[in-house]
Amino acid sequence: MTSSGNKIKVVCRVRPFLKTEKTDESVGVEANNVLRVTNPRDTTKDVKFNFDSCYGPVVGQDVIYNNDVRPLVETIFTGLSATVFCYGVTGAGKTHTIQGSGTEPGIIPRAMEHIFKHQERDSFDYDIRVSYYEIYKEAVFDLFKQRDSVAGLPIREDANRKIFVAGLSEKKVTSYEQFDTLYQKACGNRRTASTKLNNHSSRSHAILTVQVQWKDDIGSGKTWCGRLHLIDLAGSEDNRRTENGKDRMAESSAINRSLFVLGQVVEALNTGASRIPYRDSKMTRILQDSLGGDSLGMMIVNVSPGEAFLQDTHNTLNFATKSR
Ligand code: ADP
Ligand code: MG
Repeated sequence: MTSSGNKIKVVCRVRPFLKTEKTDESVGVEANNVLRVTNPRDTTKDVKFNFDSCYGPVVGQDVIYNNDVRPLVETIFTGLSATVFCYGVTGAGKTHTIQGSGTEPGIIPRAMEHIFKHQERDSFDYDIRVSYYEIYKEAVFDLFKQRDSVAGLPIREDANRKIFVAGLSEKKVTSYEQFDTLYQKACGNRRTASTKLNNHSSRSHAILTVQVQWKDDIGSGKTWCGRLHLIDLAGSEDNRRTENGKDRMAESSAINRSLFVLGQVVEALNTGASRIPYRDSKMTRILQDSLGGDSLGMMIVNVSPGEAFLQDTHNTLNFATKSR
């Protein structure tokens, strides 16, 4: 449980201005859990939003990892599941936060290093497996394979009522370097598909799942399993505003719907509702066993600082503070 008693912590991150942007700041961190949005044309209309934490533009990748993500990753070594989502419009900093770059590694490389360091320190024989897939228009695609069909992989339930994606690769990895080679190649697959399909990377959810399994060394020999999901969500912008055509409309409604369902699931978990609508989208269905119960989750809400994004920022923050 987080300090506010929520199951899914909601934090906000404001990215810095890019060199090419006009620096008309309209978003500011007012306190460590309050974000202020200013309309420069009417400063009497400032709006404040509350979060579990707020991070301004100078906060580095290491701070976010150490404050918020590290404790979540630790829980997988007790057999729990943990999930981190990055939510926001295209350009707000989701990929920077979850993946980062060579000089500023984000959550994925930091979490993987953390997991392998933990493995080295510990006496258990951990079996570490990764899957990397995307969900585009409610279809699931394996990013460790070349895309050879448009149909996507089916979601099934096993004899123990556990949900799984049938046919999805689970790669066993024994070192960070081995993971990184696989991951870089998969990111390449994603980019290629993206170029062919008109920037669909901002229109799909990318999910990295790490599964850690080990056997109890005291007597029982019980098998333990912890899972971590790191998710770069599809851009939350309303594509209907700028683009039209039948295909784009279908795509937009699939994205908006799955983000809407995610918001409802997070809200239901955080308010203790009895019905949690996991089944209403592919992503929440797949994550069903990992959200809720004793599992921990976090949504990082990414926003841009400038006035040009003001409407998007309001939409993003309204969504995010509602689910909190
Ligand atoms: P998204 O994935 O949400 O579309 P990106 O992560 O690609 O957005 O970010 C958009 C641009 O802003 C990129 O050039 C990225 O490097 C830069 N950026 C985002 N967040 C930060 C940050 N915290 N610090 C420095 N640069 C950032
Ligand atoms: Mg991105």
